[in-house]
Amino acid sequence: MSREGVPPLPVSAPAMPFQDAARLSLGDTQLRFNMGKATTTIRAKRYKVVDEMPDWQNLREAGRAIKDRTLRHLDKYLIQLEESVTRVGGKVHWAADAEDANRIVAGIVKSHGAKEVVKIKSLTTDEIGLNEALAHQGIKAYETDLAELIIQLADERSSHILVPAIHKSRAEIREIFRRTLENTEHLGDEPKELAAAARAHLRRKFLTVPVAVSGVNFGVADTGTICIVESEGNGRMCLTLPKVLVSVMGIEKLVPTWRDLEVFLQLLPRSSTAERMNPYTSFWTGIAPPGDGPDEFHLILLDDGRSKVLADRNGRQALHCIRCSACLNICPVYERTGGHAYNSVYPGPIGAILTPQLVGVENAGSLPYASSLCGACYEVCPVKINIPEVLLHLRGEVVRHKQATLAGKLSGENIAMQTVARVFASPRRYEAAQKAGRLGQKLMVKGGVIERLPGQLGGWTAVRDVYPIAPQTFREWWKQREKVSNTKTVPRQEARP
Ligand code: SF4
Repeated sequence: MSREGVPPLPVSAPAMPFQDAARLSLGDTQLRFNMGKATTTIRAKRYKVVDEMPDWQNLREAGRAIKDRTLRHLDKYLIQLEESVTRVGGKVHWAADAEDANRIVAGIVKSHGAKEVVKIKSLTTDEIGLNEALAHQGIKAYETDLAELIIQLADERSSHILVPAIHKSRAEIREIFRRTLENTEHLGDEPKELAAAARAHLRRKFLTVPVAVSGVNFGVADTGTICIVESEGNGRMCLTLPKVLVSVMGIEKLVPTWRDLEVFLQLLPRSSTAERMNPYTSFWTGIAPPGDGPDEFHLILLDDGRSKVLADRNGRQALHCIRCSACLNICPVYERTGGHAYNSVYPGPIGAILTPQLVGVENAGSLPYASSLCGACYEVCPVKINIPEVLLHLRGEVVRHKQATLAGKLSGENIAMQTVARVFASPRRYEAAQKAGRLGQKLMVKGGVIERLPGQLGGWTAVRDVYPIAPQTFREWWKQREKVSNTKTVPRQEARP
């Protein structure tokens, strides 16, 4: 579909491969310091509150099972959700992609003659590039989450699911506020002062802007209830003060019943902000009585590639994600590179498996390699997404995609791998290759190791030594041993009659 004049979507083909973007990030020492400090603190807090729960592993298993069941019957539950929301006075819209969703939101805002919207919990709206699409229609969107506001004022992109400004120090935030907000010439960098400056700016918007746009943490199919969890109270303002509320929900955010919510409301706060419960947990079911909340409620159910992910038996577990960010905070790669290297609103391990599935491996083929496969992300994930397993699956997809093109077929890597595959498939070829290798390595072995391999193989030895092929393999040793023992064998005595 044409996107003429509209800026590129935040979840789009990364502009440069992860490895190149990561190299740039690694050169930024301030960023590495900020990231290391923030992730170490969050990790330590999380361990403490998770440790308090004797049934944590059972809860994780319950979370995984509920998500699994929900996705297996997603079609049925989505229809149920639509019926429930409609029954309580809401209006449900189905959006096949970002373009659809943005058009629907803009239509609702315009139908009320509004030129501004306030936003809360907006990762999904970041995914579809809503702010840019609204700006294109002359509508200004105001982020109200403190970290999102910082990022918006800095004209940057978020680098963390939960703490979008994690890469910013207090001094940097003060400079952004001084540059962009009124009456901040004498602003200090104490968190209290920074929060007060943001509050003064936002309070005016909450009281005057007629339309709010929210994301959704959970949508409950049997009651039509929508749930948002947040820490600052800005969400509560957005959900109650404006006259019109539009919520954009990825179709995977659904849970079948209220009972299921109980599990996630225990797993999410401990895994994300390391709290026992969220400071603000808001629920709304349709529209409130007059004067007690929005008069109009719209729910947009967004697909935008999720059905495709669901169709992949191995990759679909990425849709279990409840966006807690525990996998980001534990990941040694993310900690060093920060989120911008992933060039997606979904950074870190979850981004490495979700983005390539949403935009296609042909457009984000470097992301499944943004991992050392240490498995820490799997261990902390509250819904037990086996991220390393999906990464490997996607790496296979990347290779298969490359092999399907002529350039890929003729690439040095493919030819080398095909040759290795043929050698490994035949014991005879394997033994012949070992013998040839033993001869070939003679000039390269120094001090018992090979320090440098020739050609493209040199990439391997750039950061490590290689042990040479042993003078005698186990199989050769075994054959030799058999030969010796056969020659020494005393002929068997005939059994006595
Ligand atoms: S993949 Fe798991 S750990 Fe990572 S954000 Fe999603 S739910 Fe949290």
